[in-house]
Amino acid sequence: MKFSVVKTLGYFLGGIWTARGGRKRIEARQRKNLRRLVKTAREKSPYFKELYAHLPDTGVLKLSDLPVTSKSELMAHFDDWLTDRSLTLAQARQHMESMDNLGVPIGQYAVFRTSGTSGEPAVIVLSASMLEFIFGLALARMSRRQFQFAKKIERSGTNVIVTGGNGHFVGAGFDLLRQNLKIPLKREFQFIPAEQAIEETIKQLNEITPMASIVTYPSMLTILTREQELGRLHMEPAAIKVAGETFTPELRKRAQKAFPSLQFDILDAYGCTECLFMAFECDCGRQHVPEDWVILEAVDENHQPVADGTLSATALLTVLANEAQPLIRYELGDRLRFYPDPCPCGSPFRSFEVEGRQATVVRVGEVTLSPLAFDLEHERARRVQMIQTSENVFEVRAELLTEENPEEVLEQVIESVGEVFTKNGLPGVKIHKSDAPPQLTASGKFHEVISRPLIPARER
Ligand SMILES: [Zn+2]
Repeated sequence: MKFSVVKTLGYFLGGIWTARGGRKRIEARQRKNLRRLVKTAREKSPYFKELYAHLPDTGVLKLSDLPVTSKSELMAHFDDWLTDRSLTLAQARQHMESMDNLGVPIGQYAVFRTSGTSGEPAVIVLSASMLEFIFGLALARMSRRQFQFAKKIERSGTNVIVTGGNGHFVGAGFDLLRQNLKIPLKREFQFIPAEQAIEETIKQLNEITPMASIVTYPSMLTILTREQELGRLHMEPAAIKVAGETFTPELRKRAQKAFPSLQFDILDAYGCTECLFMAFECDCGRQHVPEDWVILEAVDENHQPVADGTLSATALLTVLANEAQPLIRYELGDRLRFYPDPCPCGSPFRSFEVEGRQATVVRVGEVTLSPLAFDLEHERARRVQMIQTSENVFEVRAELLTEENPEEVLEQVIESVGEVFTKNGLPGVKIHKSDAPPQLTASGKFHEVISRPLIPARER
C-alpha cells in the first residue's frame, strides 16, 4: 500500500477547481466519477456484474436506475463484491484477529470493521486512493477559518482520541495507519480506550496539559461534560471534534459552556467507517455533501427520494472514490433532512442536517419516542442506561458514584422513565432494574438508550 502525496494534491486542486465552477461543474464531475465507478464495478466485481446485468449501458445510466444495496447482502458476497480478487474475507478476518495488526496494511489495502450493533459487522477495505481522497478533498473543503485554526492548534498541545479500542475500528486505527504509511502530519495523537472505567479516563485526561484537541463520540462527550460541570474533570481543550453518533444542539450548547477553553466551535464530523469523509461542516454549522466524490440520497421506506425540507426514513450512500470495494446506493439507516435553501456560507454544495439514526429511536407498539424524551441523569451515577429487552419491557442499569443505597438510584430512574411512558400513552410498559454494568457497543460507544432494532439499521 503506497500513499501518494502527488495524488493527494490532485484531489485537493481538483476539489478547489470543481467548487469554483459551481453547480454545473460539480454535477458534471459527479456524473463522470459515477460512470467510472459503475464501469469498474461491472467489469471487476462479479457481484455487481450480476446485479447490473439487466441494466442499460453505463454511458446512459442514471443513479436512480441502480438498485439499492445493503450491508448484509454485500457482506454475504464479500469475495465477489471487491474489484480485486487478491483479498478475501477470510484473509481480512485473519489479519484482524491480532490487535498488533491494527492500522497495518494487508497488501494494497487497509481493513477495518464496523461495530455491528445491528448484526454482522461490515469489513471495510480502504485503498491508497481512498486515503488520498480523504486527505486531499477534506483539505479542499475546509473554510479559511477552519484551515487557519487547524494550523494554529497543530502544535499547541496534545491531541487526544477517546474511541473504541477493542477491535479493528477506524477511530483508533486510522492514525496508526497514517504513521505506518508515513503520511506527513505534524499532529501527534494520544489514544484513550472508551471501554475503560470513566474514572480512569478522567484521571488520564486530567494529566494531559496542554491539550490541543479531543476527538470522541457525542455519548462520551456527554459524560465528560457532566464530569467537568461537577468539577471532577479539569480538561482545557482548545478544540473538540465529535464523530460517529448524532450530535444534538443541546449537547453542543452545554459542552461549549462547560469548556470555556474552547477557541473554536465544536466540530461535528458526520462520517462512518464506510466513508470517513462523507460531509463537511461549514462555519454556519450546516453539513455539506462533497458531491463531486460522495452522493447522499434522502429517501423514504421504499427508497424513493423525499423532497428537500422533509425528514427521510433512511439514506443511501455512494462513495465515488472507493473502487476497491464499491459502495453504490448503500443503505445507511440514518435519517437526514436536506435544507431547501442555499446555505448562508455561500457553498455550492447541498447542505443537510442529521436527525438521528433509526436504531436509536424507541418503538413500543405504534408509539415512537426519541431517547431524548427520557431523563437518564442521576446525581449519584456516572451513567445510567435503559435497554429494551422486549417490546414492552425495559431494563435500567447504572454505573454509580458511590456504593451507598444503589437501589434508591435505580428506583428513582425507573419512576421518572415510567412517567414518560405513561405521558405518551404507554402505561403498560414494565421497567426492571439490573445489577449488570451498562453495556457498550463493540466500538466502545455508550448509548443511554438501547432499543430493539426493528428494521436493519446501520451499526455505528
Ligand atoms: Zn454552509
